[in-house]
Amino acid sequence: MSDTQKVRVRVAPSPTGDPHVGTAYVTLFNYILAKQAGGELVLRIEDTDQSRARASSEQQIYESLSWLGLEWDEGPDKGGDYGPYRQSERKSIHLEHSEQLLKTGHAYRCFCTPERLAKLREQQRAEGKMLGYDGHCRSLSVEEVEQKMKEGVPSVVRLKVPKDRVTQFDDAIRGSIEIKNTQLDDQVLIKSDGFPTYHLANVVDDHLMKISHVIRAEEWISSTPKHVLLYKAFGWETPVFAHVPLLRNLDKSKISKRKNPVSLNYYKRKGILPEAMVNFLALMGWSYGDDQEVFSPEQMMEKFKLKDIHLGGPVFDVVKLKHINQQYMQKLDSKGFSHYLRDKVFTQDYLESLFPLFKDRLECFEQFVDRSSFFFNGGLDYEGLPLIPKSKDAKEMRTMIKGLIEELDDLYEWKADAIQNLLNTYREKIEWKPRDFFMPIRLMATGRKDSPPLAESLEVIGREMVRFRLRDVLNGAHLKP
Ligand code: GLU
Repeated sequence: MSDTQKVRVRVAPSPTGDPHVGTAYVTLFNYILAKQAGGELVLRIEDTDQSRARASSEQQIYESLSWLGLEWDEGPDKGGDYGPYRQSERKSIHLEHSEQLLKTGHAYRCFCTPERLAKLREQQRAEGKMLGYDGHCRSLSVEEVEQKMKEGVPSVVRLKVPKDRVTQFDDAIRGSIEIKNTQLDDQVLIKSDGFPTYHLANVVDDHLMKISHVIRAEEWISSTPKHVLLYKAFGWETPVFAHVPLLRNLDKSKISKRKNPVSLNYYKRKGILPEAMVNFLALMGWSYGDDQEVFSPEQMMEKFKLKDIHLGGPVFDVVKLKHINQQYMQKLDSKGFSHYLRDKVFTQDYLESLFPLFKDRLECFEQFVDRSSFFFNGGLDYEGLPLIPKSKDAKEMRTMIKGLIEELDDLYEWKADAIQNLLNTYREKIEWKPRDFFMPIRLMATGRKDSPPLAESLEVIGREMVRFRLRDVLNGAHLKP
């Protein structure tokens, strides 16, 4: 980065699934750096994996980052001078750049079939070798390539990694990182479906969007040398790279929804204040100093330096999050307290979503708070509830719940009809009687035998909270035989 270059940073989430706490964590450091330097934060939606991208996920990314106050300056929804900001709308730009690499000899077309590649992988595995492309198509002549293209043989474009060198880059947090190019695969840049891979699209877009600092999660470190090679191949200056440590579960494994709710929706729903979440995420990677635990983004901006980000594995500890949240709650005055409940908990939208579930089930309003409490609670009390049906044992219950969580995770849209279909199909697959199957699910999700219709209730409770409750049962003492 040259001295005169403006600070321009970006977050580049893929719109798959629920908005992730990791996205907020990475966005926070980018946001602080941009604001501190009077620069800009770009929000780029990386949706080139069309089979996984969802419009609803994109919307939720906007909503959750706005909720946290991590406002971006340019993005698909806001526009800007370097758009389009949705990667799938930049395909022609990516293809142009791949053509350029083919012309300059930094990339080549590969016609290997998926079968050949699978066999190659198998062989490499059996011989204990590093997995990767063997360069079979690296030296095809221009004529051979033309001939195959004419015949319509499917192909991909691969990066021609100069194997005889070493690639080095400086990480602003970790220092110099070096890797022998023999360790680097001839990365696919354009897939056979004509879409670019993350690597090509990411580098081209970062360059064209004039990104000065690439601050992203640690898991991308191994991709960065390939990106550096791409910058070199195009003759472009590399941005500053900084890889922030991954958030971890309590057992130090990479944070995952199996062990910790990871959706920002879940924490919002749980009643974590956005200021507390931001403060907590900041503490995951940085210290304000003097043991000061509670600080605002503005205070952070006064002191923050990229190089001060800690490299330890930050543990996303919900107990700690609640402790921080409590300190923010204590700062609320009576107006703040009541406004929060009215504007965030008992909202018009949420209450309306409960209307069809309760309109025929109440004799008077005093019954509402008690009967609807599971729509507002987090974990539930299962004491005394017959979670295990008579014809099943605890082990069978566990297997059923684990399978159900996986199925629910894969459900495309979290809507009552789809949930109902999924439950029916899953029940038939595992051959459980309707009553044995539906009642325990009702109990686990709502804590009551007499909840409103199950699938409709699950829709309103939300995927993350349903998963949390099912896992809570799996992990707790409730499944004692
Ligand atoms: N699309 C990648 C992600 O979802 C972006 C990684 C990067 O910041 O380069 O995390």
